[in-house]
Amino acid sequence: MTITDNSFSEKLTFPNLSLCYNLSMIRQLSLIFSLIFIVSCANEEQPTEQDAKDFLAEVQLRAETEGPVIYSANWISSNFITYDSQVVLADFSKRYTLKSLEQARVASTFDNLELEPEDRRALDIIKNGFVMPPPLNEELAGELSGIMTELEAMYGSGTHCFSENDCYDLEGFESIIDNSRDPDELLKAWNGWREIGKPMKDKYLRMVDIGNQGAQDLGFDGLSDLWFSKYDMPVSEFSETVDRVYEDLKPLYESLQCHVRAELNEFYGDDVVPDEGSIPAHILGNMWAQSWANVYDLVYQEESTGKPIDLTKVINDRGLTEIEMVEIAEDFFLSLGFEPLEDTFWERSLFVKPADRNVVCHASAWDINPKTKDLRIKMCIEKNAEDFSTIHHELGHIFYYQAYADQPAVFQSGANDGFHEAVGDLLSLSITPNYLQKIGFVSEEEAESAKENGIAFLMKQALDGVVPTPWTLMLDKWRMAVFNGELSEDEMNDYWWELREKYQGVRSPNERPADAFDPGAKYHIPGNTPYTRYYLARVLQYQFHESLCNDIGFEGPLHECSIYDSEIAGEKLRAMLSMGQSQPWQDALESIIGTRELSGTAMLNYYAPLKEWLDIQNEGRSCGW
Ligand SMILES: [Zn+2]
Repeated sequence: MTITDNSFSEKLTFPNLSLCYNLSMIRQLSLIFSLIFIVSCANEEQPTEQDAKDFLAEVQLRAETEGPVIYSANWISSNFITYDSQVVLADFSKRYTLKSLEQARVASTFDNLELEPEDRRALDIIKNGFVMPPPLNEELAGELSGIMTELEAMYGSGTHCFSENDCYDLEGFESIIDNSRDPDELLKAWNGWREIGKPMKDKYLRMVDIGNQGAQDLGFDGLSDLWFSKYDMPVSEFSETVDRVYEDLKPLYESLQCHVRAELNEFYGDDVVPDEGSIPAHILGNMWAQSWANVYDLVYQEESTGKPIDLTKVINDRGLTEIEMVEIAEDFFLSLGFEPLEDTFWERSLFVKPADRNVVCHASAWDINPKTKDLRIKMCIEKNAEDFSTIHHELGHIFYYQAYADQPAVFQSGANDGFHEAVGDLLSLSITPNYLQKIGFVSEEEAESAKENGIAFLMKQALDGVVPTPWTLMLDKWRMAVFNGELSEDEMNDYWWELREKYQGVRSPNERPADAFDPGAKYHIPGNTPYTRYYLARVLQYQFHESLCNDIGFEGPLHECSIYDSEIAGEKLRAMLSMGQSQPWQDALESIIGTRELSGTAMLNYYAPLKEWLDIQNEGRSCGW
């Protein structure tokens, strides 16, 4: 299942065999201890290659027989939120997690055995599927699960009251941060939400302690090693790679930061936004200053006579239904030569918010049963441009599932965790004026007029697509330092802001209190969701886009290229998707773009016209921070 995190335009991926999530109620570990004991007794002599093969066959059988039932239970609990559906899911999750933990430990008993590369890869994937593994100690495992549940709940139910009748939850605070232009009101909301982080600190650090031990029990050096060893290269080399890519992107980001800072300075004045240094985080239109799309109107005034396409209006003028919106997105994939979706997709998906029951409306894509191609999306579609794009994103996951359905279960996942998100976003890059004209949404004149306004289009894209890059990089840098015990308790919050300044050129609007734990105010920290995947996805989507546009012989600016209706692009894409996770991600990348290197160049090329425009705007300004 793959969940789209609409509120932050980020997505969480739940691959088939990463069974690490709902660790609540994990209290009956004695059961698996006895199982592990049996396994280790049986293998005391030395496990053989045949033992490893038998084990992998068992894992496959279990995924085929139990997987679909677990996903169905999950589906029911998200589509019919009742007391009973939650009880059933909690029970399934607990048993599945325990079994998966056992599998991970069995997999690690083959560590010293020489095996065929495919088997070695499968075992490694089974081992590193956990994000916060419980240790081999019943009491600690129980404590860990308790803390994780508590942290999730502290975030999910987080509210802050300024006085008895002046209380806000995240949604309330966000509606201020996203829309207000009053600096005092913004600061109050910004501070208010960060109150919820404070009580998390001790629990978070305790969780990391226990998680480190759990990772060691699985044969890793600690959590850092577990999290970053799944990228088919040594951890240090992976770190260097992502840093090198960021060095490429930095000039573009710096130009954008410089221009946005100058425009916000003009709007708010020196007292709120000085025209040098880092930008205070509360006035960027997003709770975490991770997307600046909400300040678009302050930083760009239309210069061209070209009229951008109002896709929401087109959707409504044409009277499209929610299902028709999905059919149009499916047609995009069919134009690339993908197989049509099964009838069960249309029968079992959720497209419209039901009137008579509670559902989780968060957009998500599900691979309930790869064998029968029982794939679904769950979305409460609204008839607007944003959801039109999200539908394409979700179908990106669905057609990825379709493409790798014949792989063994353990390889039914993205080439790395960034790939799955990048595919959906790749398609969204192809929703261009020309594409909209081709499918009959706009006239040729309207498409031409929209194309005249390329800078407006790119600025909008950049505030949402370039702005998050340093943020998606720094978040796990902070987490890695904490996992590795490099920071004292007093240094943790300061280091968070040190990284935000260094990478994002964004600073705290005030001195943080001594008990602040600002990382806790971002879901992915208490929720333990690895974040580097979003960085990878951002970079990869442009690499895919540029390369496929070259393959189809597109000439012109990259932001005008759409791969719609191209069999060549479709064939290349499908070949890569069908590999799933069976090969190192570098092989998957090479199969589609011809090189094995993660690189920021494609993103730079895509935004080249904007960079040129920004450089002119920034003349005479002193950029950098
Ligand atoms: Zn997604």
